[in-house]
Amino acid sequence: RQAQFAALRDTPAITRDGVKIDLGINAGLLVDLPHLRDSGAEGIGLFRTELQFMMAQHFPRLDTQVRHYRGILAAANERPVTFRTLDIGADKLLPYLRQVKEDNPAMGWRAIRMALDRPALLRLQLRALLKAGAGQTLRVMFPMIAEVHEFVTAKAMIEDEKRYLKKHGHKIPAKLEVGAMIEVPALVWQLDQLLPELDFVSIGSNDLVQFLYASDRGNPRLAHRYDPLSPAVLKTIRAIVLAGQKHGVHVNLCGEMAGRPIEAMALIGLGLTSISMAPAAIGPVKTMILSADRVKLWEFMEPLLARPDHSLRETLSSYAKSAGI
Ligand code: PEP
Ligand code: MG
Repeated sequence: RQAQFAALRDTPAITRDGVKIDLGINAGLLVDLPHLRDSGAEGIGLFRTELQFMMAQHFPRLDTQVRHYRGILAAANERPVTFRTLDIGADKLLPYLRQVKEDNPAMGWRAIRMALDRPALLRLQLRALLKAGAGQTLRVMFPMIAEVHEFVTAKAMIEDEKRYLKKHGHKIPAKLEVGAMIEVPALVWQLDQLLPELDFVSIGSNDLVQFLYASDRGNPRLAHRYDPLSPAVLKTIRAIVLAGQKHGVHVNLCGEMAGRPIEAMALIGLGLTSISMAPAAIGPVKTMILSADRVKLWEFMEPLLARPDHSLRETLSSYAKSAGI
């Protein structure tokens, strides 16, 4: 099967009824970059910048960050890279940053919350990204946005940094695209206000599902209690897809579910046209897409969303078998 997947490397992921799906990889280090070419993915849908910070002995300085991001963009060789700003806290800790003990770190002082309260850190990172992306397209997204003003404040910081760099004679990116991750359920109810402010959104389904079900994503005792293939999760994703269509905003999904063929099939059925995943999943997911029919899939799925079921996994798996997917 490995050879079969490799043979598909340069085949675009298009469903039987002609819907082109953008497949990206998730990455976090320069050593991940060869996977971009080998997998045939179209870009990096999620670049987890905190990995560089987690491996360092102290906060990486501006020039160290610039060099790192430049290296990533060069290795991506014109394919789009979506840099996510620091997502520190909860499961991602920095050995040199003293963490205050919290009862609920996943819901605590983390990610954009920490970044907005300690703006010097985020400012430095944004400056590094803008410098690294000089003359090119730069895509940046913010993690764990829960309210519109958090996004607006973070985006204003990019504009400040752009002005600063220009004033000091530095070249800035030719094009800047700024987005938010949708990981906090409350944001799903603010999409009409949020989407006009940004260029794209990316659904972080790992956290979004954790918070929708109030179920710790890392707790093995809960691992099978709730299923991302349940009506509650799928309806939430569908609502985001529809809001994206209404506002003309590109929607991506970069959680782990995108890398599992049955889950990915459901996501395509819900109308997503852009998903990103671990590099090894690109082949199996592309194989699924090539044999799926988007319209038929949605016709099958839509009535299922009204069911009180715990999971639609079996129903979707048998559909996949009978439809030859
Ligand atoms: C997510 O939450 O789905 C996500 C992609 O981010 P992370 O797994 O890094 O929290
Ligand atoms: Mg997350």
